Amino acid sequence: MLLENAVCTLEDIKAYIDEQEAGFTFFTRNGLKTCTVCMETKDVVAFGKQEQAKDSMNPRCKQCEKKKRIADEFYTEWTLEGVGTVYLKRYKSRAGGISWYLVDVKGEFISKRCADCGEMKLKDGYSESNKLGGVRSICRECDGEHKVGYRAENAEHLKEYMRQYQAENADHIKEYQRQYRAEKRNDPTWVEKQRERQRQRYVKEPERFQAKEAKRNALKRNLHAEPNWANNWADIMERFHGRCALTGDVLDESQGNSHCEHFIPLSWGHGGTSAANCYPLRSDLNISKGNRNPFEWFQAFKDRYGLSQDRFDELVLYLAMRNDMTPEEFEKYVYWCERNKRTPEECAEDTRPSSEIFKEAQARGEV
Ligand SMILES: [Zn+2]
Ligand SMILES: [Zn+2]
Repeated sequence: MLLENAVCTLEDIKAYIDEQEAGFTFFTRNGLKTCTVCMETKDVVAFGKQEQAKDSMNPRCKQCEKKKRIADEFYTEWTLEGVGTVYLKRYKSRAGGISWYLVDVKGEFISKRCADCGEMKLKDGYSESNKLGGVRSICRECDGEHKVGYRAENAEHLKEYMRQYQAENADHIKEYQRQYRAEKRNDPTWVEKQRERQRQRYVKEPERFQAKEAKRNALKRNLHAEPNWANNWADIMERFHGRCALTGDVLDESQGNSHCEHFIPLSWGHGGTSAANCYPLRSDLNISKGNRNPFEWFQAFKDRYGLSQDRFDELVLYLAMRNDMTPEEFEKYVYWCERNKRTPEECAEDTRPSSEIFKEAQARGEV
């Protein structure tokens, strides 16, 4: 079994198949023949006779016949983008050769190769039938069902399908990815490759990169993180006109001077990564603030950095509104978080937003 560890796309898998098939000859040619089970190309004497076959030879080699092997025993493993581990398997096609399909680790049918255009397409790309995977062997596009504009529509379809698949299998995918990374962490080549990918992502879209990092940091501590956060963060940056909330300086993440700052530090086990807790801050101020109480930090450092009280008050008002609180309540809330710090384990036990927990404590008269 071959292991293709890098995350790949359906196009990559198609390219692999094309390469494989270039060496196949399912019908005897120059004394050679490819076995439809083990896919090895062997001298024709390695095959038995079979009268009804096109070339009068058994499509399986003698060895496969003897060991009662089936094609399912021979597959390659891939990591498909957005899905996780998939197995590329083959089945005997009507034309006498083989065709290819993908299943996930639970054996669910994911994709197959169109018998006409040869593309690997997701299940959605075919109309239903009683063929393998419950769909036709020729894709919709080749079928002529949606000739015009179908490709674009199909791209949307695929995205939607991936989204749905990811949503339905979130836990499974997460667990798989965790295991995969744990295994790969000992492989220095893999680690370096990941680092390089991170660097490239950063260069390409520093703002999104920064947002995703903020989200990861919250999730690592079992804290609340807004879904679709990278987009929300872009909206927040727009709301602040791409400027530091406290100094008004134009921020440019590619210059490394911009930071997605958590008003309530993540290390307190509160707040999380959300519009109710995050705002743009110049990097050096973020470093200075660290895990301190934001109100106390501001009072202690405003003169050193020449920060304006008005801007700070405006920020507090903005965040208070995002938390559905008055500025006074919001300040109380931040101090409450500081007094009631939580470990990641405690955060995992109560995954509600901290503001909700605070309001409940307040209602019980505990604040
Ligand atoms: Zn064989
Ligand atoms: Zn097709």
